[in-house]
Amino acid sequence: MKLHNLKDNSEQVSFAQAVRQGLGRNQGLFFPESLPQFDDVEALLALDFHTRSAKILSAMLGDEFTEAEVKALVDAAFQFPAPIKQVEAGVHALELFHGPTLAFKDFGGRFMAQSLAAVSDGGKITILTATSGDTGAAVAHAFYGMENINVVILYPKGKISPLQEALFCTLGNNITTVAVNGDFDDCQALVKNAFDDEALRKEVGLNSANSINISRLMAQICYYFEAVAQLPVEQRKELVISVPSGNFGNLTAGLLGKAMGLPVKRFIAATNVNDTVPRYLETGEWDPKPTIPTLSNAMDVSQPNNWPRIEALCERKGWGLNELGKGAVTDEESKESVRALDAQGYLCEPHGAIAYRILKEQLTEGETGLFLCTAHPAKFKEAVDDILQRDIDLPAPLAKHAALPLLSLERDADFEQLKQVLRDAQ
Ligand SMILES: *Cc1c(COP(=O)(O)O)cnc(C)c1O
Repeated sequence: MKLHNLKDNSEQVSFAQAVRQGLGRNQGLFFPESLPQFDDVEALLALDFHTRSAKILSAMLGDEFTEAEVKALVDAAFQFPAPIKQVEAGVHALELFHGPTLAFKDFGGRFMAQSLAAVSDGGKITILTATSGDTGAAVAHAFYGMENINVVILYPKGKISPLQEALFCTLGNNITTVAVNGDFDDCQALVKNAFDDEALRKEVGLNSANSINISRLMAQICYYFEAVAQLPVEQRKELVISVPSGNFGNLTAGLLGKAMGLPVKRFIAATNVNDTVPRYLETGEWDPKPTIPTLSNAMDVSQPNNWPRIEALCERKGWGLNELGKGAVTDEESKESVRALDAQGYLCEPHGAIAYRILKEQLTEGETGLFLCTAHPAKFKEAVDDILQRDIDLPAPLAKHAALPLLSLERDADFEQLKQVLRDAQ
């Protein structure tokens, strides 16, 4: 697959390079030069999840991997299902939270980890990242147990929820977690120091495995096909998909799927009050405001970093941005929707509920609706318990980790101490 840097067309890379590098020059995003087209989508939809996903990704990666190699990546990465559940007539939830960290980021994170291992030259790799909770867990689980790859995750001590901490600080093996005496900004500053240190970077093979890696989006395309494959045939024609969005990677993946032939009538960009994109689609003005904390905190993003990919794709396909549905939801409204879904017998957390709410507002007669549930309700247990005034159950993976001892190191926000941790991790 050939990709180019959206900020500098002259930088052209292979998939292998894009995966290793993450970002291009001037922080530019990599984007595919061209996309495969599936003419017989029905035949594709008739396949099982892994076989179909391997076909989709092979069509993109065929010049760098054999079909069997791609199938092996898919088999290793997608070890959990993406089921749809009907919540009411003509409205379905796509549950993307059945992976080890109970959020959709497991799909992209695990495929990125497998891809990175597949394109590595056998040298040591150290993944270094700072987390305020969720991304760290997905990265830790994605790389857990992989040969030649060490993971070091920094987080602010005492500033993430005990459940979040239990999920990734109990793994051990090639995963080192560090509780830093400081805040999230201190953690990020330490990571930046490390990447700025050329000698250290070489010595331990630093890689950020960050959230804009193109391999993540490619994995996410596959579950959109999987969702449509599960719909009754008569509901596939007028399909509207609502995506709870923060950095807009998920929506980008859906649009890539559509560009490759997936039958979707319309996508909806659903946000919380951090509504830079809905306002932009309304007024044509890109005017990010300071980020506001909300109940759907994984979507508390006012400068969504995948947006240039959506613009590039729409321009290439001749799709007007006005074809995108949009809407922004307050915390009060998202709570109301969590309760409304619960009253229909569907337990949902605030991110998914935002997508549901805007979908319901905009779905018209004859259309079928699908909204993405990006996290397991128990992942936001404090919020959901409070909204529904009851104690919801912990699913098995969370309960298992919650009972294990924490293995984190404790360090000050000091670069010399971090260097030692990175060396010890080898
Ligand atoms: C990351 C995340 C989102 C936002 O997804 P983007 O791809 O960044 O738009 C939504 N919900 C949950 C639970 C998340 O973790």
